[in-house]
Amino acid sequence: MSSIPFYISNSLLFTKTGILKESNNLVVSNILKNPFKFIGLNKLPKRNIGMAWRCSADSNDGLVDNLKNNKIICSERVEKAMKSVDRKKYVSHSPYMDSPQQIGYGATISAPHMHAIALENMESFLRPGAKSLDVGSGSGYLTVCMAEMVGSEGKVIGIEHIPQLVDMAKSNVQKDRPEFLESNRIEFLVGDGRNGYPEEAPYDCIHVGAAAETTPQVLIDQLKSPGRLFIPVGSGSQYIYQFDKDVNGNVTKKSLMGVMYVPLTDAHKQLGGARR
Ligand code: SAH
Repeated sequence: MSSIPFYISNSLLFTKTGILKESNNLVVSNILKNPFKFIGLNKLPKRNIGMAWRCSADSNDGLVDNLKNNKIICSERVEKAMKSVDRKKYVSHSPYMDSPQQIGYGATISAPHMHAIALENMESFLRPGAKSLDVGSGSGYLTVCMAEMVGSEGKVIGIEHIPQLVDMAKSNVQKDRPEFLESNRIEFLVGDGRNGYPEEAPYDCIHVGAAAETTPQVLIDQLKSPGRLFIPVGSGSQYIYQFDKDVNGNVTKKSLMGVMYVPLTDAHKQLGGARR
């Protein structure tokens, strides 16, 4: 690939020629060699987002240290959570590479830097005792990090529309943190995350791990006052948006950065082109 990627992505890349490529080792190694830019970098002044994709290591601690040294992780609570959850238990191949990895059924485990950015963004809403929703919970990795942060009094619901991925997440967590499932600190559900999960609403924060074409209003409706929604939105160009509901229920929207995530879509569409 000769062109320089200009959107960083969860699992796919747009190049300057407009070609959409799947993220794989070839593309990732190209990223490591080439500069790229984040849209909206100036909107995240405190973090060294330009070092995203470059934090690969040969251990979980090394990966988290790199994310910290490059100021993608700034919070001790995020560092502690990510150090306590070994990615290897959620993806068997290249777990410490700072790139997304396929987990089957057309899904990926997001890149470590995107997990770090999401946890940093939601940090103040993932306080002990908080209730949170993880839409598109996939491997279960981020759900567990979130559960670490909300503590034993908190709760995180992972909603995922591919039943096999829900089984995979449950099995991963059963091996890594069985007590989280036994105590209901984490609950995994099969469902269309575009509807959120009204039964347990309202939530202190909602994380969405796949890109919505437009922001589902129901997710904003399911936020507490105050509460935060972290969501990639868009079908061509995608941006992470942060929606904040204040104590009076007023909602503000902030664009954080350009990304490319897998779509928040119908299960049959996702499975249509999926490699198992
Ligand atoms: N956050 C997870 C997965 C990210 S990939 C991780 O890092 O492991 C995005 C996930 O969203 C996939 O698992 C995909 O199956 C799921 N997804 C896509 N559309 C969805 C929908 N409508 N409802 C629920 N989950 C959805």
